[in-house]
Amino acid sequence: MKLIVTNHSRDIFNSRYVYPVVSRRAGGLSLGINLNTNNACNWQCIYCEVPDLKRGKPEPINLDQLKSELKQWLKKIIEGDFIDKHTDANTVFKDIALSGNGEPTACKEFSNVITIIKEEFDFYKLASDIKIRLITNGSYLYKKEIAAAWRGLSLEKEIWFKIDSTQSDKIKIINQVNLTTKQIKKNLESALAVSPTIIQTCLTKINNQLPSANEIQDYVNFLKPYENQINSIHLYSLARPTEQKTAFTLERLTNQEMTQIADKMDTLSIPIFTFS
Ligand code: SF4
Repeated sequence: MKLIVTNHSRDIFNSRYVYPVVSRRAGGLSLGINLNTNNACNWQCIYCEVPDLKRGKPEPINLDQLKSELKQWLKKIIEGDFIDKHTDANTVFKDIALSGNGEPTACKEFSNVITIIKEEFDFYKLASDIKIRLITNGSYLYKKEIAAAWRGLSLEKEIWFKIDSTQSDKIKIINQVNLTTKQIKKNLESALAVSPTIIQTCLTKINNQLPSANEIQDYVNFLKPYENQINSIHLYSLARPTEQKTAFTLERLTNQEMTQIADKMDTLSIPIFTFS
């Protein structure tokens, strides 16, 4: 079967921790590592595509199994014909991404997992070819052990840091958490201190309403002090249907709506990329 951007199921190939996807935002094949095999996250975003998502922390990781799966997948991709067989022509292997069915930095074995990934990067001499990415809502980046594990990683790395809104009432609706701008600042500054960082923002029409001008302006004002430190902003909209039950209707933004919102952010000197 072919991997496509509209199907990011973790279960296609029967691996527990490691799953390949073709990612719009990564720009090719991304080898995901799912540390939340129990589908538990500390947030509950209304657009989340994780089925049977529940609140909570990940279950313990079987590090031997994770290492073995990662080895097998890298062998298939690098030495085998996986890319030719399962992706469209010209697809390129782009990254290993800590991005699963919940928040990866909630994982107690996070630093062990980083060590395993580094060993496999070294074994296959991947450092000059692909990146390692941490896709996160940022909640635990303030923790010393998490920050230290990421800071110590001597590879091309990026943190993709989720900020869907900077208004607490909207965050409550979209991400279903109580989060203040002070807390987002603290988490973002922790990310910026240890890694190149990209802001990832999911824009959704909720009950037929686009994000308001005031909400976009607050977002711009929030990011302004960090504009020389943030690598880029990824604005994207729903690629796949939500798996969450919600009283709200959610709609994907059109290309034109995405561009109009990006234009309203042009006082930021941060490159903005839209993915609709
Ligand atoms: S942070 Fe990610 S995994 Fe967690 S609920 Fe939101 S979209 Fe889903």
